[in-house]
Amino acid sequence: MSDPKAVAEALSRAQSVLILSHANPDGDAVGSALGLMWALRRRRVHARVALSDPVPPTLAFLPGAEEIDGADVVDAPDVCVVLDSSSPNHVGDLFEHVTACGCLIVNVDHHVTNGRFGHVNWIDPSSPAVAQMIYRLLPLLGIRPDPQIATCLLTGFVTDTNGFSTPNTTPRLLRDAAELMAAGASLAEIMRQAFLNRSLTQVRLWAHALQTLCFEEGVVWTVNTPAMRQAVGATERDSSDLSTFLLTIREAHVAASFTVLDDGRVKVSLRAKPGYNVAQVAARFGGGGHPPAAGATLECSLDEAVESVVSALKAQVSGHTAEVKRS
Ligand code: 5GP
Ligand code: MN
Repeated sequence: MSDPKAVAEALSRAQSVLILSHANPDGDAVGSALGLMWALRRRRVHARVALSDPVPPTLAFLPGAEEIDGADVVDAPDVCVVLDSSSPNHVGDLFEHVTACGCLIVNVDHHVTNGRFGHVNWIDPSSPAVAQMIYRLLPLLGIRPDPQIATCLLTGFVTDTNGFSTPNTTPRLLRDAAELMAAGASLAEIMRQAFLNRSLTQVRLWAHALQTLCFEEGVVWTVNTPAMRQAVGATERDSSDLSTFLLTIREAHVAASFTVLDDGRVKVSLRAKPGYNVAQVAARFGGGGHPPAAGATLECSLDEAVESVVSALKAQVSGHTAEVKRS
């Protein structure tokens, strides 16, 4: 079954619901989870959100963010809803606790690569944000958005479309966004919190990483290491978003930000301009994502990671160029 009605039916029978989303949560993960939490609480359902990583400071303004924890599932819920996660791996350790407690798993996602791991699966790759799918679910739950719900969901719209700038930003998404504003969400405040709100430490880390900037054949990339983070007091999370910034370079078709994690693995964050597909590249390295934004974590040296990922990105760029020339 693959429609919102099946999700609404499963939720309408539940008394307690645990909502999970992916590790390294972004605005769509946190916004859709909290939006659904507030909607269910309005129906007097016991609902809570758990994530395997902390909420980033740029999303701490969301109502309910302070309640989110990564603790083990103490009381077995009736239903566990997993949002914005293409596979259980993406959720992290929390997913194992959920499967152990035997509750009904409801999987709501917009990644085309979703593995349909739930008992109920609603996967809509045409939706720019899972938060929009939750917005579509509200009437089926008999809920109209209040300012809390609207703020959480609009944040998911804004962050997954990079401020309504991605090609999948549809008239329907903008109409839904307008309705959320009318319901009490402040677009200006969400934009300010989500995008205009960097820590000095993060920008200092970027200054180090940008010293490593390379550009070849339409591919731009940087690396950042634990030593760079130590030098400025930054954490792994401060490297997030750098790939989005790199893609603003006019000459770049695709961008990669390599982060040597504290455990020695190498996380690569990929971004692509329209017409290129970095999800395909990420999938080759065991990762995933969307055509314009994807990522993977590699268990190899930094040099090996850069060598193999950059050559795959160059092939993606030259393959695209060949397509354009042929047509
Ligand atoms: P970011 O570069 O911001 O970490 O991630 C961009 C997109 O790629 C997001 O949609 C994220 O969910 C996805 N992504 C990042 N890393 C991984 C990964 O290791 N596995 C999968 N399946 N998706 C990832
Ligand atoms: Mn998303």
